[in-house]
Amino acid sequence: MNIGQKILQLLKEEITEVEYNRYIKHLVYDTKKSTSDLAIFYAPNNLVCNWIKNKYTTKIEHLFEVSNGAKVTVQITLKNIVDKRKTKQTIEKKQSIHSLLNPSHTFDNFMVGGSNQFAYAAVKSVSEKAGELYNPLFIHGGVGLGKTHLMQAAGNVFQNQGKVVIYTTVEQFLNDFIRHIRNQTMDRFQEKYRKCDVLLIDDIQFLSNKENIQEEFFHTFEALKGTGKQIILTADKHPKKIGGLEKRLQSRFEHGLVADIQPPELETKIAIIKNKCEINKVVLSNDIINYIATVIENNVREIEGILSKLHAYSQLMHVDIDLAFVKNVLKDQMQENRANLTLDNITKSVAKDLNIKPSEIRSKSRSKNLVYARRISIYLCRELTQNTMPQLAQYFGMKDHTAISHTLKKINELLENDEDFKVKIEELTNKVTSSS
Ligand code: ADP
Ligand code: MG
Repeated sequence: MNIGQKILQLLKEEITEVEYNRYIKHLVYDTKKSTSDLAIFYAPNNLVCNWIKNKYTTKIEHLFEVSNGAKVTVQITLKNIVDKRKTKQTIEKKQSIHSLLNPSHTFDNFMVGGSNQFAYAAVKSVSEKAGELYNPLFIHGGVGLGKTHLMQAAGNVFQNQGKVVIYTTVEQFLNDFIRHIRNQTMDRFQEKYRKCDVLLIDDIQFLSNKENIQEEFFHTFEALKGTGKQIILTADKHPKKIGGLEKRLQSRFEHGLVADIQPPELETKIAIIKNKCEINKVVLSNDIINYIATVIENNVREIEGILSKLHAYSQLMHVDIDLAFVKNVLKDQMQENRANLTLDNITKSVAKDLNIKPSEIRSKSRSKNLVYARRISIYLCRELTQNTMPQLAQYFGMKDHTAISHTLKKINELLENDEDFKVKIEELTNKVTSSS
């Protein structure tokens, strides 16, 4: 196995099987043209190429860095068109500036609406006056709402001004920290993070309960802040709501400006879809765009998946993209989302929603609220997964499949007669399927 294949195997462990099989699997590593600081992968077509480029370049570069202990520029390209000039430029750029920014994450490509205008304005103004306005700037919001995009848009502005920008996730920061401890090169680690002009740290909630890295991060933070260097942070929640975080860090996170991003309203979703169509060179009629915007709930990230799938299908099957076709593809997509659901994650979601422990749902307790939670879980597991009744019986600690069948019968009665129960089931079905 060559190093490229090894890296893709590591990536496989971190992403869903569907993503791997649809995109990553098709990458071919060029053992001849790749060098110790350049890794070239070929993609079979433009869409797969763009998809992987946008979504995985940073990740793949990081995996190389962790395995090799040195920076590697990753180039995803169509076979035979490695742009030598560009390659050289990127390497030079990357070597001088230790950052892994996605160049298409720009302010121009970011669609602004009521849901995100506050965060947008905050990041935009910080990008015009690094270190002077809000420091740190803390952006929070749900998955796929554009936090990374916005933060990197500022990063790209700074980078074009020649500033040294470090973009990292907490996970990468932690891996880097561990590697430097192991190699006894902590001085280099500190030099790297404390001497940059701008530090962008993504998904700060993962600092939770990791005392060592919080300590290190605190000192990095203080050093940068003390010298007026801009820090931008993102998280899935407000600093106050991140559990397992030292008080001094929490208060520092709140010290600059905290801005949130809400799920996009319909018009924003439509604007985003139009923008992504343009970038990916996909042509869709307005009724299709509107349809996709209404079907996609909250996660903007899904839009790109859908577009690339529509495009790929229509090319493979030589059909035009019409509304009926889109409906079919989206139906498949939803089923696919469901295929990723497991008994554990359904039970976990139900437990979380009802504020109990998953183990209580699977216990033998007959208390009223647990019976209620158990019924809902069993119903969802039966509806949303392929597990058989004996498998469900085993999982929920019931005697045998007749116990499950009895419960399902009871639930169907409730669904017919109890409006509240029906609403709860619908609400949880949505929650469970959209969190997958
Ligand atoms: P988060 O970091 O909040 O999970 P990302 O920044 O990774 O989300 O966004 C997910 C995808 O959605 C990215 O491809 C991003 O470009 C896109 N996206 C999100 N919000 C917008 C927006 N307002 N305009 C354009 N693209 C967006
Ligand atoms: Mg993100």
